[in-house]
Amino acid sequence: MERDIGDLTIEIDRTLCIGSGSCVGLASETFEIDEQNLVRFQDETPDIDPERLKEACAVCPVDALRVYDGDEQIVP
Ligand code: SF4
Repeated sequence: MERDIGDLTIEIDRTLCIGSGSCVGLASETFEIDEQNLVRFQDETPDIDPERLKEACAVCPVDALRVYDGDEQIVP
């Protein structure tokens, strides 16, 4: 699943997620853990500080969150 947030595009690979919740800890307005203990986007994902959003994706221990700035992948 994929979502444009501000100028960035965030891609979630749920097949990799292990439900650690680290991303939610840094960007709870963007991510949540569902009943399968896997990450998903919140229904509404307001623009947030892009640096915090990138950090929230970069902390993922299994690289399940990718960030693109246009065509360029910037995380991980
Ligand atoms: S940090 Fe990674 S493994 Fe942990 S909940 Fe988020 S996407 Fe899943």
